[in-house]
Amino acid sequence: MEKLKSLGFKLTPQRLAILKYLKGNKEHPSAETIYKALKRKFPTMSLATIYNTIENLKKKGLIWELTLDPDKKRIDPNPEPHHHFLCEKCHRIFDVLYEISVPLERLEQEGFQITRSQVEFIGLCPHCKKIKK
Ligand code: ZN
Ligand code: MN
Repeated sequence: MEKLKSLGFKLTPQRLAILKYLKGNKEHPSAETIYKALKRKFPTMSLATIYNTIENLKKKGLIWELTLDPDKKRIDPNPEPHHHFLCEKCHRIFDVLYEISVPLERLEQEGFQITRSQVEFIGLCPHCKKIKK
């Protein structure tokens, strides 16, 4: 929170509610999910407010936007580099915290400058795999 203030981020009650919802959230929610969760408590909150807040936090490097779900962008409040698994049945996104070695130095040798990298896994989560049987 202090960090946000020092970054010139205005903390309105609605923005605070969004931050609180995202803090420690491991579900990788979409903007719509955040909206649904908060609109009962904040009836005047609009989807636009959520998009704006997400955009702001993203620009400040405090959250990361995941694009591996083809249906909607998902928010990751953990900006530290890590990998993800998307369940193609329930569309839940799980953190993959194992270290995966990718020869990034080869790409750099080819002249690419890498800003960020992550490995995406797609398949069935343990729950959906059990149901399928
Ligand atoms: Zn699943
Ligand atoms: Mn994550």
